[in-house]
Amino acid sequence: MRQWFKEFFSPCPGHGQPSGEPSGDLPGGLLPPSEDTFAAINELSRVVKDNPDAVEIYLALGSLYRSQGEIERAVHIRQNLILRPGLRPEFKARALYELGRDYKRGGLVDRAYEAFQQARKTAGSNPAITQELAKLCAEADDCLQAAKYYVELGNPVAEAHYLVRQAQKESRDHPQDGGQVQKCLERALKVSPGSMEAWLEKIHRSLLRLEKQPLSKILEQALRQVPESKRFILLEGLIVSMQNENPPYFLNAGTAGELDEVLMVLSDYSQDVLLQYYGGLLLLHQGKFGEAQVWFEKCLLLAPDFWPARLELLALALQNNTLPQSVEVQLVFFLSRAREVKRFICGHCGLKRESVFFVCPRCSSWHSISFRRNLNE
Ligand SMILES: [Zn+2]
Repeated sequence: MRQWFKEFFSPCPGHGQPSGEPSGDLPGGLLPPSEDTFAAINELSRVVKDNPDAVEIYLALGSLYRSQGEIERAVHIRQNLILRPGLRPEFKARALYELGRDYKRGGLVDRAYEAFQQARKTAGSNPAITQELAKLCAEADDCLQAAKYYVELGNPVAEAHYLVRQAQKESRDHPQDGGQVQKCLERALKVSPGSMEAWLEKIHRSLLRLEKQPLSKILEQALRQVPESKRFILLEGLIVSMQNENPPYFLNAGTAGELDEVLMVLSDYSQDVLLQYYGGLLLLHQGKFGEAQVWFEKCLLLAPDFWPARLELLALALQNNTLPQSVEVQLVFFLSRAREVKRFICGHCGLKRESVFFVCPRCSSWHSISFRRNLNE
């Protein structure tokens, strides 16, 4: 990459990073724009407008307008700059890039896309621009194009993610034709063999009887490929898919054998506290309380601080024991509160969520999710 690219496309934190950019333009809490601020911006703008040496300041002013929500003024500044005769191509590319970000901030997605494309034509391939194009395609549900941009960005995790999204689109739009779906999933697993999204989709399809292999076989392969710290996602997704089945999976007597095979697979991971915990949850859903208790107790032998297993054991104890009503009322209250604790956390920014995410909604990191094994996290 030529030096000027680095200079021109990395003035703000987050630009060009695979993790994406934060949602706001200025970090920290911004004060509401005051008349003084606008007066100062206007004055500066007037001074540097025709000064060929002040292009950087002029660009920064545009970004300042954008940060204050003054999109029209920001756009005006970029357009003035782009039309300036004799403007060096690196400045033009940067102005087009910022113009794209202005439009995006203003919700004008098509114009944003066009500006980024022009920036790309002027600057050549540049990660900051490609990142913006990839995100716009992803937001517009153009999954295949998003996947292509992530190839360029050298991000196989994101590429696989959008190939799986494409597979989901295919199965929605052409439910009778599973060929394309299989192709997309195979491609996703080829570029990223540990893609949780791809394995989850296969697990989901297996429950719908759309896969040739039985569920336990798919889970067995998935557990071998997915990184150890992310294996829990497969089980979390499996339980969610089972709960959404119609008729309810856990009430269907025909599925008991299949679940036994899944538990056999999990029992091979006797040192993995999270997999033992999810084994317990599967048994709970089946109404096999005694066996579930054994699995939760195994969790505590492995990790005495593992609070979700303690929570389930307490709930089971409450079912099996008659307590004074005043004690029971308080315990039920604390149990219901404890169940509201968000179980998942982003390893990069600390965002806590109750449902699984593949891209952090706050810091845009890929696969940064982990399970909160203790409550201090
Ligand atoms: Zn995050």
